[in-house]
Amino acid sequence: MSLGGIGYEDKKRQLLQQFQEPGPVRLVKDTSNLFRHRSAASGPGLDVRQFDSVLRVNTDESWVEVEGMTSYASLVDATLEHGVMPCVVPQLKSITIGGAVSGIGIESTSFRQGLVHETVSEMDVLTGDGRVVTCTPDNEHRALFYGLPNSYGTLGYVLRLKSRTLPVRPYVGLQHIHHRDPTAYFAQIAELCSGDADFIDGTVFAPDELYITVGRFADNAPYTSDYNFERIYYQSIREREHDYLTVYDYVWRWDTDWFWCSKNVGAQHPLLRRLLGRERLNSVFYTKLMRWNARWRLTRGLNSLRRVYTESVIQDVDIPIEKAPAFLEFFDREIGIRPVWICPIGVFDRNARFPLYPMDGDTIYVNFGFWDVVTGRDGKPSGHYNRKVEAKVEELGGIKSLYSDSYYDRETFARLYNQSAYESIKKVYDSEGRFKGLYEKCVLRE
Ligand SMILES: Cc1cc2nc3c(=O)[nH]c(=O)nc-3n(C[C@H](O)[C@H](O)[C@H](O)COP(=O)(O)OP(=O)(O)OC[C@H]3O[C@@H](n4cnc5c(N)ncnc54)[C@H](O)[C@@H]3O)c2cc1C
Repeated sequence: MSLGGIGYEDKKRQLLQQFQEPGPVRLVKDTSNLFRHRSAASGPGLDVRQFDSVLRVNTDESWVEVEGMTSYASLVDATLEHGVMPCVVPQLKSITIGGAVSGIGIESTSFRQGLVHETVSEMDVLTGDGRVVTCTPDNEHRALFYGLPNSYGTLGYVLRLKSRTLPVRPYVGLQHIHHRDPTAYFAQIAELCSGDADFIDGTVFAPDELYITVGRFADNAPYTSDYNFERIYYQSIREREHDYLTVYDYVWRWDTDWFWCSKNVGAQHPLLRRLLGRERLNSVFYTKLMRWNARWRLTRGLNSLRRVYTESVIQDVDIPIEKAPAFLEFFDREIGIRPVWICPIGVFDRNARFPLYPMDGDTIYVNFGFWDVVTGRDGKPSGHYNRKVEAKVEELGGIKSLYSDSYYDRETFARLYNQSAYESIKKVYDSEGRFKGLYEKCVLRE
């Protein structure tokens, strides 16, 4: 079944025809959450925009079948209608499920459900040799099933997949727990991960001002707050201990202000907020503004006039929880971006091994998300701050997402992201190299 337009099988046929055009492949999509500046695209692209339908919501067996380029905004709408939601919903509405599987997707359910790719049970993948293969954890394409997460479209494109869902209730009751000491803070997060919470994340405003936000589904709410317009969700964390949101508003609580990054485009100013209106307060609008700024090099031009060194440090890194206080101490001393988003991750299936994003099944990890520009007075080599982050993450046994800038040398990258496993999968599914290599794409920004 398709909710509109032509059906999945017809879309697949049309795509395979497009794919017969020889040469390197470039994905054509309307939105992106990639924060790597790439070389300008050339040549015709592979238009995958029509793969945006939710095919089936099976509430008895708790899964949804969906096309790969479906945005989470559409997927959440379709599943909530049936009283369920995807087990992990990344915070930004335009992230697509295929993008979140081939990149890395995380949210406040991840302490129990793992990362987005751990919620998937089956995928149709368009491979470099022009086939569409169905891969599952135990069929003949299992190497591709496990290898696709963190491959960023270099092994194939996910066209259709099945993913686990969980039942929802109408409201989420929140408690924001204030801490002053990082060690006690991360210890309580670890403890909460084995409790009865439905959602856990956190916000660090300063090394001695840390909050855990615990969410629990509720059938009733004494009131609900609205952070989609004049009030701002992240500010409320410091202001109140308890709060209630509808489940829809909870799922999208971070999208309205792009966590807190809307401040970079002035959208937290009350007057500008009113001028922009509810419909423009969202991550898609801010992304467009930032890309426009990057294209015209406005901020960069001003900074070079002022002789200021600036560097975008936009990263998500996962650190074993016992090392989290050490990472935070390093981060505040060397990088200094505030606030920082915190999200615990528990591996869903201890026996599953995703070679390109290896995690220890017996460890709770903490995701640190930080997205800002770091400014320094003196001339520094390119990637100065990002390289420090990469070195610290490696030292502490963590792992870094690759959606943004990376500076690893080839050897270190090969070791950290298991390039021997990658190469053997690449050989089977893209022997002619129609898709770029992972290092070329994620580090060299080709
Ligand atoms: C500021 C910022 C904050 C972020 N915060 C979060 C967060 O809080 N939680 C979270 O989970 N993630 C977060 N991300 C990361 C985001 O989930 C990943 O970048 C994800 O890959 C984006 O998905 P997309 O659909 O927008 O894909 P795109 O940005 O369009 O593409 C990303 C990459 O995936 C490939 N790709 C896209 N679709 C497919 C497909 N169907 N099959 C195979 N490959 C595909 C593309 O070729 C490309 O290399 C954040 C990113 C940024 C920039």
